[in-house]
Amino acid sequence: MRKAVEIARKARVLGLNVLGSPNAFDMEVRVGAGAYVCGEETALLDSLEGKRGMVRAKPPLPAHKGLFGQPTVINNVISLASVPIIMDKGAAYYKDFGMGRSRGTIPIQIAGNIKYGGLFETAFGLTLGEIIDDIGGGTVTGRPVKAVQVGGPLGAYFPRGLFDTPFDYEAFAAKDGLIGHAGIVVFDDSADMLKQARFAMEFCAVESCGKCTPCRVGSTRGVETLDKLAAGIEPQKQVALVTDLCNTMKFGSLCALGGFTPYPVMSALTHFPEDFKPVPVAEAAE
Ligand code: SF4
Repeated sequence: MRKAVEIARKARVLGLNVLGSPNAFDMEVRVGAGAYVCGEETALLDSLEGKRGMVRAKPPLPAHKGLFGQPTVINNVISLASVPIIMDKGAAYYKDFGMGRSRGTIPIQIAGNIKYGGLFETAFGLTLGEIIDDIGGGTVTGRPVKAVQVGGPLGAYFPRGLFDTPFDYEAFAAKDGLIGHAGIVVFDDSADMLKQARFAMEFCAVESCGKCTPCRVGSTRGVETLDKLAAGIEPQKQVALVTDLCNTMKFGSLCALGGFTPYPVMSALTHFPEDFKPVPVAEAAE
């Protein structure tokens, strides 16, 4: 990115007089320290201002009061990366790819237990099954796919039964999932979905900015509750508790970190209930 900025500046695409015009436009690259929450736009602004990345309450929206209190436009890289092709070939060309309200293409990152992992750009609309089986070639272990997490660490787990879901924002939302940044992680049938649910709660506890209670306290209580479930302590009570907790986090959190953590937890619980049943003591000891 820095090299690209340097080249653009030399070519006068950036600078005081862009391509000899009276218009000034410049860019600089700022590297974050790695906090997940700084992907949230207002935490990102705090981080850019040199503060600890904390989510700001909205309103005011960054478009009104953003970086250093000034009106600020914030876009994801994927939005910006779509601009050149639209400028070059026109909106109709770009719109021709995709389905429903999800138009254009999406770079999908396929990772985890997958034969042909990597980055694949494709039009919206392929089914999840086509992405996993046809593009990804199934698991690298050769075992059956058990679950696919779509949308990053806060994305829902999809079982094979939902592989006919088209890769489309609305279609995923209708199945209680999300496309997010289109990262896909594949798990074979040896995966323990209770452990994956715990991982989501733990991730939230570690990455929480601490501003609101449902996320800050809820994630820690979530880890404890799932640990009790794994230990076989009053399992029905723990399932009810974690479900209630997820509802509180989903609807009561200030940002998507706390608000989306319930997606991996509840999808694991809904689609793989057998993994949430305590193992009888004698069996566990074998
Ligand atoms: S949901 Fe979590 S990360 Fe977001 S504002 Fe609340 S405490 Fe911070």
